[in-house]
Amino acid sequence: MQPNVCYTRHIQQEGDELETAIQVRDLKKVYHVGQNSIAALDGIDLEIQRGEFVCIVGRSGSGKSTLLNMMAGLERPSKGGVVIAGKHIEKLSEAQLVRFRLEHVGFIFQSFNLFPALTAEENVAVPLTYRGIGRRKRLKQSREMLTQVGLQTHLKHRPTQMSGGQQQRVGIARALVANPAIIFADEPTGNLDSKTSAEVLDLMRSVVGAKGHTLVLVTHDPEVARWGDRVVHILDGRITSIEVNPRPGAGEETPPDAVPPEQLKQTQGCTADRAVEAIRGIENAENGAEASRGNQT
Ligand code: ADP
Repeated sequence: MQPNVCYTRHIQQEGDELETAIQVRDLKKVYHVGQNSIAALDGIDLEIQRGEFVCIVGRSGSGKSTLLNMMAGLERPSKGGVVIAGKHIEKLSEAQLVRFRLEHVGFIFQSFNLFPALTAEENVAVPLTYRGIGRRKRLKQSREMLTQVGLQTHLKHRPTQMSGGQQQRVGIARALVANPAIIFADEPTGNLDSKTSAEVLDLMRSVVGAKGHTLVLVTHDPEVARWGDRVVHILDGRITSIEVNPRPGAGEETPPDAVPPEQLKQTQGCTADRAVEAIRGIENAENGAEASRGNQT
């Protein structure tokens, strides 16, 4: 499937104010392994506008994942910085980074990273659990999001009962359900055949574009990169060129909901079982609270 040029994205008009979503300044990352130093990023400067779909493309080992991780605040740079929503994210503490990701960021992964024990609607509702939204409301939002990605008939399916393409649709719905300003996607079609890849990319672009989110996708595959508004080529930790595709590229702001501090949870590094356990714990507490409210009336 070829990229469909007529998609429902807010079209940047002449005179529209461009608004920077992500600013990367002289970003450097050096890894030390034994006696060796590896410059994974060697001075990256990049600005991504709100509503843009930017693809970062380069062969394996060129520094794409490192760049994505720095932009998402998952790793700290050796030098330089990343500014998102007016914040230097490299200067945030771990707790502030967790809050920052909950407020601003959604992730789409190559391996889908769905919880096998949860249904599609429960998987999509996970980010809302961490935002302290009650079960009934979060499942309603989850079902609405799954309907937007065409999976209204698969709400109760578990990941093993769905195809790769359907699982990635669930992954897209999960990344979007909490309405984050920025979506980061790391090789999101890496486990899909070319036809399903094109369908998933088309869906990502139309759903993300229609809502005005900023989408940053990294890939080693130039065919996948062609779907972006801009294609940033990276080699040996440096940007070698930036191509602009002849497509519209800005969107409307969709401010994220506030996150109650008591609901902040460290999800990075959490095993699937522990995360499911934590979610079930929250649900049990909610059920207990509902039951005791019922007893009081
Ligand atoms: P890509 O995503 O383009 O395949 P990466 O960003 O993963 O590339 O890696 C860039 C370079 O940094 C590679 O040479 C890789 O081996 C090295 N690298 C990445 N992560 C680490 C790490 N945690 N420790 C040491 N070297 C790393």
